[in-house]
Amino acid sequence: MHEWVGKLLAVQEIDVRLDQLREQVESVPAEARRVVEALRAEEAKVTEAKAALQDVEKGIKAIDLEAEGLRTRKADFQKKSAMIKSNEEYRAALMQIEQCDKLIADLEDKQLGVMERLEAARSGVAAANRNLEAARARAEEAKGDLKTRMSNAQSQIDALEAERKPALEGIAPDLLRRYERLRSSPARRHQANQRALVPIREGVCCERCRMNVTAQTRMNARKGMLVSCEHCGTMLYFED
Ligand SMILES: [Zn+2]
Repeated sequence: MHEWVGKLLAVQEIDVRLDQLREQVESVPAEARRVVEALRAEEAKVTEAKAALQDVEKGIKAIDLEAEGLRTRKADFQKKSAMIKSNEEYRAALMQIEQCDKLIADLEDKQLGVMERLEAARSGVAAANRNLEAARARAEEAKGDLKTRMSNAQSQIDALEAERKPALEGIAPDLLRRYERLRSSPARRHQANQRALVPIREGVCCERCRMNVTAQTRMNARKGMLVSCEHCGTMLYFED
């Protein structure tokens, strides 16, 4: 391998690693947001379950009130019926009392159904609370992980940046400029593994775009000349 190739490849490996680490650091805020959103979602479910329970409890209260009203009405009719003289009025009062009994029985049936819903709603609240607790624990753990990941990545970045300076020594400035330009070109930006210098592999193929290069390019690369892929512009070197 020609000397310039080895030197530039060493710099490139540092840069690729730096890209990956910076990407990791940049992804931390989005992940932290996702953790918070997941927690908010569980909190919303608790609120929802509590509202459902309140609805059922309101329903029970309404039934209780209605039953109480009917019992009062029934007692009124019973009181009145004791003072009624005519048979006709008496029968009418009895019918009213029967009607009240029937309505009260209906309400009691209804209440049984509502009690089942009450149980379900209470279980719903308990389950939502348990899920929220679990989500809180997960969020705490995830926050810790993200913090650790961030500081690990940052210290690796610092170390690589320190390594990069000596690695640049002995590389011709125009070669370095060309390399930097290629690495920062829009087509390659934000692509952590994109390399500006790749080998000609499998005979005559540029490793990046997988297109064949000419025999001349291949020969020049073999001689150690700086050549570029005719198709994608990437710098090429010949790999023995
Ligand atoms: Zn190419």
